[in-house]
Amino acid sequence: MYDRAMKLLLALYFFILAIIQMGLFFGIYHYYRSQNVVKPSPYWMGSLLISLAGLIVFGGGILTIDDIATPQFNFTIANALFYTAAVLQALFCFSLNRPIPRVFKIGFAISILVFLIIFEWLRNVATFEIRTAFMTILASTFYVWQIFEIRKKRMQEPSSQLSYLQYASSAELFFALGRLAIVVVSSFTIRQVEQIPQILILFTITQLVMNTLSYIAIGGYWAERIALANAKSRLENQEIKALLLERETLIGSLLKANKTASTGALSASIAHELNQPLGASSLNIQFLQKKLADGELNPGMQKEILDTLLADNQRAANIIRSLRSIFSESEVKSTKINVANLVQIVLDIVTPEVHSKNIQIALRLDPNLQIHANAGEIQQVILNLVNNAIQALASCAQADKRLTIEGAYVNDGIQISVADNGYGIPAEARAHLFELLSSTKTSGMGLGLWLCNHIVLRHGGSIWFEEAVGGGAKFIFQLPVESIEA
Ligand code: ADP
Repeated sequence: MYDRAMKLLLALYFFILAIIQMGLFFGIYHYYRSQNVVKPSPYWMGSLLISLAGLIVFGGGILTIDDIATPQFNFTIANALFYTAAVLQALFCFSLNRPIPRVFKIGFAISILVFLIIFEWLRNVATFEIRTAFMTILASTFYVWQIFEIRKKRMQEPSSQLSYLQYASSAELFFALGRLAIVVVSSFTIRQVEQIPQILILFTITQLVMNTLSYIAIGGYWAERIALANAKSRLENQEIKALLLERETLIGSLLKANKTASTGALSASIAHELNQPLGASSLNIQFLQKKLADGELNPGMQKEILDTLLADNQRAANIIRSLRSIFSESEVKSTKINVANLVQIVLDIVTPEVHSKNIQIALRLDPNLQIHANAGEIQQVILNLVNNAIQALASCAQADKRLTIEGAYVNDGIQISVADNGYGIPAEARAHLFELLSSTKTSGMGLGLWLCNHIVLRHGGSIWFEEAVGGGAKFIFQLPVESIEA
């Protein structure tokens, strides 16, 4: 009766440890599967799985054993599983420092077979003491190796989890050596389960508990590494975000610089254009003052002068409004815009330059062309293209200089083109047109087309170059009616 209760209790110990190891295995396995920062060590996972299989087989064996001098074959299986688990755990510790050589892998695989044969032989011919001595010496050797490898790893990379693993492995070594000492000094021969000294059972169980603790420590070590890797990738993500933000700020500054450059190039003609209505107004006011002083002002004349003053004033206000709308900061959001109006604003700014360079403008725009986009940015695209066309036409000897702006609905959006009948673009320059800093002009920055491309792309559209009919350059861009991002 006592014998059976004792066996049951012992078996229960093994099963409980098996359940704990199983819980550890599944817990960590799912943890690993849910992330891909750190891959699990197959040696540790394998060792844990084989160890728990060994515990189950061993526990089952205890339930059925009668004479421990002649245990059944399943004890050979259980011990071979323990040996394999110990090999894999030691290899895991080795792999912390360097890759495992192939010869090690093959050597240890063969050693499992050799172990199986030796233990099977010992099971048949040797005593319980000899088998215990054999197992504890073998296990101790692995523990010493394991501790040595963990120490080495800790020197390079301090880790609290590795310290726990080293303590647990040292404890395993202590209890294994303790078991060896007990069987060596035992003067009596153990035959029945109840004859095994209590202290030996205690040491065996404690050694197994320590073994489970070392598996837990390795699990902790991996969790620690995953946490570190996660923190690192979070940091990297933050750095990428900061870089992207910096890029956006830089592009924002480039947009501003480009606006200043493109309108700056026109500033002389804009100033000239502004001066005209202002000068005319000034003359009209002086005329009005004189007529008023002389008392010669009749209602007809009065209306005529005031109408001219108002028209001149509106002309000047239009130019200012167009310039303001180019530099306006408020239009950062995407709004519903009428393309014809947008083109008109650009033309208001360039008209003086267009006139002074003797350029004819042909407009072929669908008056109802509407899109949802960032008005300021699209305006800048058109201004850049128109400016480039004016510059190209200004530098060519063509008598009949023409700038054509077309816009229409296409299948899934709108298409706008700006064409000129200048010299066009040489074939070799076409591939790099939209690249940053690619310019053929002495005063050019090579920013305009790159920015156009950037703006159009971020509206979910595309821009390209075509040769215009009869030579010259034609830039076409297409935008979705509802831009994705603006
Ligand atoms: P930038 O005008 O500062 O040189 P852009 O990016 O606007 O920079 O233009 C890049 C180059 O593309 C220009 O230097 C010019 O050689 C060429 N290019 C652009 N538009 C035209 C055009 N309409 N006709 C001829 N060449 C053009």
